Amino acid sequence: MAVIGFIGLGNMGGPMAANLVKAGHSVQGFDLSAAAIDAATAAGVTIADSPAAVARGAEIVITMLPSGKHVLGVYDGADGIVAAVSPGTLLIDSSTIDVESARKAHALATARGAVAVDAPVSGGVGGAAAGTLTFMVGGETAAFERARPVLEAMGKKIVHCGGAGAGQAAKICNNMILGISMIGVCEAFVLAEKLGLSHQSLFDVASTASGQCWSLTSYCPVPGPVPTSPANRDYQPGFAAALMLKDLKLAQEASQSAGAPTPLGAAATQLYAMMTAAGEGGTDFSGIIRLLRGEG
Ligand code: NAD
Repeated sequence: MAVIGFIGLGNMGGPMAANLVKAGHSVQGFDLSAAAIDAATAAGVTIADSPAAVARGAEIVITMLPSGKHVLGVYDGADGIVAAVSPGTLLIDSSTIDVESARKAHALATARGAVAVDAPVSGGVGGAAAGTLTFMVGGETAAFERARPVLEAMGKKIVHCGGAGAGQAAKICNNMILGISMIGVCEAFVLAEKLGLSHQSLFDVASTASGQCWSLTSYCPVPGPVPTSPANRDYQPGFAAALMLKDLKLAQEASQSAGAPTPLGAAATQLYAMMTAAGEGGTDFSGIIRLLRGEG
């Protein structure tokens, strides 16, 4: 069992750290929020007084923070974790951040003789609590193999996507597909409503025809056809529109710097920005159907 440092004990990091404790690891944590610290302490995490204190003596340090600037802020500088770790320490960043910052974090770590992977997740807070997250991992093969057992204590599917930043690239490409496909499915339901076609009829045809996709068959944006989808509970998340907007913005940043044309990704970003500006950022992202109908 390993000595693991865990920085960022929020909605995702808190339950992930708790699963590491349950798996028998010794977990030292740090967060800026008193509520996050209280919950982690109750789950058996020992709290340190700085990121550097967490990193000193740890074999593995995991970060689960809001954005690239937070991750680089915690990694870099005299008080950062990179300066505090021993050579050979494994640094795992599971935050969803931009590819460029992920590559900078790798470079900082490897310059110090540490081993780094980016390992963003999908599965949300439910998956974090249940230990069923999917991890998309970027880094050297040897680093991936070292990270795999600890990631298995928090997730059920661990995919090696390539070198530094490849995990973040996979995450934002997947979520760009999801944002675009959800809007496509919502537009089809809105058109069906105007044409007098019932939700169930469209679902019965499209779910077994070429319009089939996850946004339709697992996460249907109208109540009825898929009883477990957020549409059946007034669009309570699920996956909040604000988080979808964050991921779409990261995809747009990456597409601009890589020179990849993503016109539908850009349109999806604008629509989720409108939904969030309308005060619906905390609503499930499938609630975009209400904006398309012109409701509220
Ligand atoms: P959160 O806001 O609940 O948690 C982030 C935590 O980081 C907070 O507790 C905050 O106090 C702490 N923090 C910020 N700056 C810090 C610093 N300098 N040092 C120590 N702690 C600091 O967010 P979350 O929902 O847990 O998301 C974390 C990451 O996971 C994000 O990158 C998010 O995009 C990603 N993610 C979230 C979900 C989800 O459903 N919530 C799903 C997949 C991925």
